[in-house]
Order: sequence, then C-alpha cells, then structure tokens
Amino acid sequence: MSSEASRKALSLSLGAALAQARHLEGLAGLGSDDSTASERLLDVQEKNPGFLVQIASDGLSLEQKMQLETWLLNLDLAVPMTIYFKRRQSLAPRVTPAVAGASAEGPKKGPFGVKFRLKPIAGVKKIIAISSGKGGVGKSTVSVNLAAGLALQGSRVGLLDADLYGPSIPLMMGLHGPMPISADQKMIPLEGFGVKVVSFGFMTDPYNPVIWRGPMLSKALEQLFYQTEWGELDYLLIDLPPGTGDVQLTMIESLPLAGGIVVSTPQAVALLDAHKGLSMFEKLDVPVLGLVENMSHFQCGACGHVDDIFGQEQIEEFARSRRTPILARIPLHRRIREASDSGVPLIHSDPAFAQYYMSLVEAVMEMELSPKATGDQEMPAVSP
Ligand code: ADP
Repeated sequence: MSSEASRKALSLSLGAALAQARHLEGLAGLGSDDSTASERLLDVQEKNPGFLVQIASDGLSLEQKMQLETWLLNLDLAVPMTIYFKRRQSLAPRVTPAVAGASAEGPKKGPFGVKFRLKPIAGVKKIIAISSGKGGVGKSTVSVNLAAGLALQGSRVGLLDADLYGPSIPLMMGLHGPMPISADQKMIPLEGFGVKVVSFGFMTDPYNPVIWRGPMLSKALEQLFYQTEWGELDYLLIDLPPGTGDVQLTMIESLPLAGGIVVSTPQAVALLDAHKGLSMFEKLDVPVLGLVENMSHFQCGACGHVDDIFGQEQIEEFARSRRTPILARIPLHRRIREASDSGVPLIHSDPAFAQYYMSLVEAVMEMELSPKATGDQEMPAVSP
C-alpha cells in the first residue's frame, strides 16, 4: 500500500476508534454522537518512523487524555504512531504579554470551577516556577544557579523567593534585607550576580516562623509580584515552597506562567511527591518544562569515587511515565553545599561544577517559550 493510502486507511480506523471510545467509561465527553467524536481526529501525518496523529483535546482532562491515548495505542492497527493532543480553541490567554504584545488578562477556570484572572507583571517576559514535592531536595540551590547562569549568558533575570516558610535564597546569594522602598511605595529588589532578588527572607525574622493564614499569604505574594520594581526582565524565576499549597495556587491563579520546572532527588519517596507537583502544573494548565534530578549520584570530594546511592531506575521510569524530559542531573557533592553556604552561587565559584547547572541554563534558553507554547496551545501529551 502506498504511504498516502496507508495514511488514509489509518485516518479511517482512528476516526472509527474515536467514535467507539466515546462509549468507554470516563470518555463520554468525546462527543455526543459518532461523528462529533470522530471529528476530534485533527490530522494524521507521515513521520518517520510511522505517523503523527493529532487529536483535539478541548475539554478533556489529563486523565481522559491518558486513557484515550492508551486506548488508541493498544488498538491492533499495526502501525507505529505518536499521538499529540492539541486544543482546537485556545484557552483564555495565558500569553506572556511582553512577548505577544497583548494583554494576558482574562478570566480562567481554576480548580472547582472558580474563575480567576491572570495578570501579567509589567516588563516581565517569561515567568518560570520552580517546585519540588519535598523540602531539602535542592530546589533553591537549583533556582539560584539557574538564575545566575541565565544572567551570565546575558539575560535580564529576577528571582522571587516565595518559600515563605524557609527562605534560603538570601543566604545562598549573600544578600541581606531589608529591601529599599521607592518613592511610589514599590519594593526595590536587591541585586547579586546580575540577578534581581526579592525574598520573604528580606522581610522576616530568620529565627522565628511565619504563621500566616491563606488570605494574608495571598495578599503578601501579590505585593511581591506586582508592587516590586522588576524593570525589564527576560526571565522571572519563582522559587516555590515545597508541596502544593496556598502559595502555588495564588501564583497559578495570578500569573501567566511560561512553565514549571520540578526538582527532585531520584529515590522513590521523593518522586512520589514530585508526581504531585507535576500533576499540579498539568491540572492547572501550566506547561511542564522538565525535571531536574538533584543528588543524582554521590561524588566523593576526596577521591572522586561515584556512587549511585539513590538508584537511577525510578527517576528514569518517572520521566518516561510522565513524558517529562530530565533537563539536568546534578551530583551530590560537598562543593555544592559549600557554595550555597558561602553566598556565592556555584556557577560563579567553581567552573568544574558549573557545567552541571550550565546544561540546565542552556536547556531553558533553548526552549521556545513563545506565546504559542505558553498558552495558545496546549503542551502535547506525548513528545515526538
Ligand atoms: P530546598 O530548596 O529543596 O529546600 P536547598 O536548595 O535549600 O533545598 O538545599 C538543601 C541543602 O542541601 C542546602 O544546604 C544545599 O546546599 C544542599 N544541597 C543542595 N543540592 C546539593 C547537592 N547537589 N550536593 C550537595 N549539597 C546540596
């Protein structure tokens, strides 16, 4: 059969399969009848090896997409295919306005159907959130080195330490509060290593816990987002507290994020929580840019011996099952801890180790965080 004929045959089979799938439990939302269900098949293109199949995902949840994808891939069609999900109709804009030249304000539906309005930060192009399921996995160390590395490459960078309960960025960047206030009552970020830094740590007592309820926290965060003189920034990185709590929700309901990065160590107990962080981004429609594997292996400072103390299989499986690229693998090494404690980001202080973070910097710089990727379209469920 010619390739054009096999493409047509595949389109027909997939159309019929979509119509059938609407009878499956959980996939009723595919369409009210056979033709509306099969209309979800947008395109079938030849792609070596096999075919690239595009399915309209409007209104489908992540679970439904995964269920549909499994169903289609398990059909006995005997052709290799890669499935992409994309929206036919774009969502209310989650567009980085400075890139798009458009307003990103517009109502969106949040969890439980609550509407919220995304509001850009004037002058800020790409906002990237850095999260982890657990504390102590190295999220702040990654944030500091990514920010300093992007600045070293000539980007204009801000770093917002939103880890209210354990702000460690001031120590890692060698900065001390308080932040100056401008004549029009805006906060002026402190600057270190070419990065504009704002931290709860500049405003709170380091030895006393912050005990704030949700609404107070949201108000404080919104002030940090919008009442700060960020100036013109290519990237604003947000170092989140661990978990999936009030700070995360306030941020996702306020800012037009370009994407999220999840930091995890490779053992199962940490990855369990990393799943939740990743699902949070996916459920709230924030593109997941990838995973940073920290403490990937132990490297002895004295003899250089390398030990895979946490194992590798589980993180590989995590990346595969969640279809998420691993953007960098960073060893567990005394010098990384020492650099954090010294207040000079490792990317500045140790060229031999800088390479681990530089690969992350390059991966982020190469990403097309254009309006299309940030919101007009949905991130594909499957990488080609
Ligand atoms: P989190 O932000 O996830 O709570 P931190 O970045 O504050 O974690 O890191 C916790 C501690 O672990 C810090 O003392 C930091 O210097 C250290 N650390 C982080 N990554 C590494 C690493 N790869 N090797 C050695 N120490 C590390």
